[in-house]
Amino acid sequence: MKIEILYDNTSCGGFKSGWGFSCLVDGRILFDTGEAPEPLFENINRLNIRLEQIEAAVISHNHWDHTGGLWELLKKRQGLKVYACPGFGADFKSRVAALGGILIESDSCRSIDDRISVTGEVPGSYKGAAMPEQALIAKTGNGMAVITGCSHPGIVAMIEKARACFPGTPITLALGGFHLKDEDAGTIDSVVSSLEKMGVFKVGPTHCTGEEAKTLFRNRFGGRYVPICAGTQLEL
Ligand SMILES: [Zn+2]
Ligand SMILES: [Zn+2]
Repeated sequence: MKIEILYDNTSCGGFKSGWGFSCLVDGRILFDTGEAPEPLFENINRLNIRLEQIEAAVISHNHWDHTGGLWELLKKRQGLKVYACPGFGADFKSRVAALGGILIESDSCRSIDDRISVTGEVPGSYKGAAMPEQALIAKTGNGMAVITGCSHPGIVAMIEKARACFPGTPITLALGGFHLKDEDAGTIDSVVSSLEKMGVFKVGPTHCTGEEAKTLFRNRFGGRYVPICAGTQLEL
C-alpha cells in the first residue's frame, strides 16, 4: 500500500509546502486537497502522478485547508466521486454538484473498494461550531493505516471509529493532522498514551498536530515515529 504526501506545512527538498494536508493512497484515491491548487498540482507533477489515475477524492472535513484544491481538480476531472460527510453543509455540497462531482455521503463505515474505506462521519466541533469529520482507512499487509485531516473530533475518537469499522484489525499507522497544537502538555500526554494503549504501531503526526505534540510522539514512539513532509513516499 503506497501513500504519497502531496500537501503539508513542511516540504521535503524541492516540493511545495502550504497550510493543509493531502495525500494519494494506493496511487488512485486522493485524500484532502490542501489550501490551494497550485502547490497541489505542482507536487502531483513532481511525483509523476497523472490526474487520470485519481479515481475518487475523500474529503475529511469542510475546512478551506483541506478543500482548497478540490474545485480545480473537479474542473479537470469531470464526474469525479467525492466522499463526504452528511454534515458538511450546503455550500460544500452544492459547489461539488455545480462542478459535476458525484457526491457520496456517509455517516458510517463505507468501503470504496476491497482495500480502501472511509470511517464515515464522526461528530466534532471547531471554535464552537459543529465540524464533522471522517478518516480514510487503507488496508496494509498486516493491518490498516488510518489517515486523518485535522481530527477535530479528537484523534482518539477518529481511531476508535476506525477500530469499530474493522474490529480486531491492528493499526499499523496513524497518519495526518491530530490537531493538538492548542492543547496543554497533560492533554497531549494522555492522547499519546491512548494511542499506545489502542495498539497504534507507527505514527506520522503532521499538519495541525503542533510541534510540542510531535516531539512527544517522537520521544515515545522512537523508531515507530514517521516524519512527514510534502513529497514523503511511504510503502506499507
Ligand atoms: Zn487543517
Ligand atoms: Zn480543520
